[in-house]
Amino acid sequence: MNHFVSMKDLSAGEIQQLIKLAEQYERGQYSNLTKEGKRFVANLFYEPSTRTKMSFEVAEKKLGLEILDFHCDSSSEQKGESIYDTAKTFSSIGAEALIIRHPVDNQVQLLAEQLPVPVINAGDGKGEHPTQSLLDLYTMYKEFSYFKDLKVLMIGDILHSRVARSNALALKTLGAEVFLSCPKEWQDPNIDYPYLDLDEAIEHCDVAMLLRIQLERHQHQTNLSAQQYLARYGLTKEREQRMKSNAIIMHPAPVNRNVEIEDCLVECERSRIFKQMEYGVYTRMAVLNMLLNKGDEAVGENHQTMYAHAQQW
Ligand code: ASP
Repeated sequence: MNHFVSMKDLSAGEIQQLIKLAEQYERGQYSNLTKEGKRFVANLFYEPSTRTKMSFEVAEKKLGLEILDFHCDSSSEQKGESIYDTAKTFSSIGAEALIIRHPVDNQVQLLAEQLPVPVINAGDGKGEHPTQSLLDLYTMYKEFSYFKDLKVLMIGDILHSRVARSNALALKTLGAEVFLSCPKEWQDPNIDYPYLDLDEAIEHCDVAMLLRIQLERHQHQTNLSAQQYLARYGLTKEREQRMKSNAIIMHPAPVNRNVEIEDCLVECERSRIFKQMEYGVYTRMAVLNMLLNKGDEAVGENHQTMYAHAQQW
């Protein structure tokens, strides 16, 4: 694994390896990645971020890495420097990995092809968000310990969601059963899963994954009010009560309370929304280790054995 830009690049075995590594980080079994002197990584965020940026920072600090923090508004981007030149600058001055978020689809993947250091996609437009997907997978794994035939229902703004795209790819690799539910105009013909009526699907899923309405990426506003959206496409208390007893609720956040999900459900017993954020730290540590140290430390289990087991998920 040279970069971490798309979930389509990962095999089931590689996903399993990352999950095992994250588990070790969660148990606190790890040491710094910096045994010989300082090691630098750069966080280049060209779009707003709270969870992804901050959890990368926590992950980097826990691993003993030094962070080069980039701020668009005080950088040479203001003088017209291209993103390629900025990114190449950071690798030239010693950043060993670049964590990049950018509003343009596929921009991060293009940079990865051109740069001499590992690139991690922290979200590219409507494209992908692979570290969010990995923490989502980790959340499901912690709950169910398997993926094969796990019923995952993604609900909401499928068309504009990079989270949906990355999870659709990864869950296919892992053999989960994915269903989608959303307004007709937000269906994405490139995501090849069945669209179901929410009221029917909610009773059968193991995971109800809500997606934020990506207003900043919409060309046309929807005609629905928040109240109408919640009633028609959101997770209401009434729908939650019809979920399977062990089914869980996920949302990548930020959450629009009382739009995608009723306020009282955000922290209800089934909700894993804040757990997902915690897991984001361990899974991002695992990705950093994989790229900077080839996953060398931590994982006690032999990699071959893990690949063999991956089929049984
Ligand atoms: N935080 C996620 C992202 O950056 C989800 C969202 O913003 O809706 O894509």
